[in-house]
Amino acid sequence: MQVTLVYDNEVWQEGLQADWGFACLVQEGDRRILFDTGAQSSILLHNLEKLNLDPRTIPEVFISHGHWDHIGGLADLLKLNPAIKVYLPHSCPAPPGAAQVVRIQDPYQLQENIFSTGELPGNEQSLVVQTGGGLVVICGCSHPGVGTILQAASKHGKVSALIGGLHGFKEFDLLEDLKLVCPCHCTQYIADIMQLYPETAVPGGAGKVLVIE
Ligand SMILES: [Zn+2]
Ligand SMILES: [Zn+2]
Repeated sequence: MQVTLVYDNEVWQEGLQADWGFACLVQEGDRRILFDTGAQSSILLHNLEKLNLDPRTIPEVFISHGHWDHIGGLADLLKLNPAIKVYLPHSCPAPPGAAQVVRIQDPYQLQENIFSTGELPGNEQSLVVQTGGGLVVICGCSHPGVGTILQAASKHGKVSALIGGLHGFKEFDLLEDLKLVCPCHCTQYIADIMQLYPETAVPGGAGKVLVIE
């Protein structure tokens, strides 16, 4: 599978814009899911274009939580692509103009090997993808806490990768067994994680492509 960071506080690929917020495109087989939409639609759409990703061809969007830096691009995305299927945490109000909305409270299966943790305390859901090499967990801000998210994901197997905003997360030993960690967006201790796990931690940034076997 492949995860492309579309919107991040930092920039990785020249020509893309950095801004406080998060979005990434998750590609697994022929399934393509936009995870979150950043803060500003102009930057979301600019970065998608630079990555040669046409927002009108993305069939699904998964919203981790209702904060402005994750749902900011959603309204304009829906104008361009009203048929896009929107997965929302239950507490998040449905956006106007969405034809297909799935509001998620309990753990939910999007497809055979793709799951939501369900809305966890902190009003946030994470996306879990089962791959041959373990589970890939994608999180927005990790408001429920990384430990809680990893535990919720673990019912589907062993977590091997963690990508997204980790906020003020400091229990670094939870990352010990991972094969990949990409701490980005709001993660406060990126430098500490890089230093502790130089073999497995990679920096994020808009335009970064993570290929996971
Ligand atoms: Zn947040
Ligand atoms: Zn955030």
